Amino acid sequence: MNRVAQAFTELEDHVSVLGQELGSLKKYAAFLEEENTRLKRELSVLSHTDPALVQMNSAGIRGMAAENLEKMYADCFHVCHFHFGERWTEPCLFCEAFLRHDDE
Ligand SMILES: [Zn+2]
Repeated sequence: MNRVAQAFTELEDHVSVLGQELGSLKKYAAFLEEENTRLKRELSVLSHTDPALVQMNSAGIRGMAAENLEKMYADCFHVCHFHFGERWTEPCLFCEAFLRHDDE
């Protein structure tokens, strides 16, 4: 293969890799957009939440071992400060962030 053909082959490879990366980025952007929408929805719910209740929940959560909280969430109960002890019907971002220790 001559040098020009070689260069084109390498260029094609790069374009192919870039195309794949672009595809991944598009998926990631769509995921972030979806998460943003969900967070906005959660936040609108939070604005109606009683701060005293949140504080009380927070104290309760600190008293429980991490593995109990994980089990509780797996059993469809909120472990986040906002809805602690309530049943969840769809996964809660706050609970998941809390269990991943995003707040640390
Ligand atoms: Zn929750």
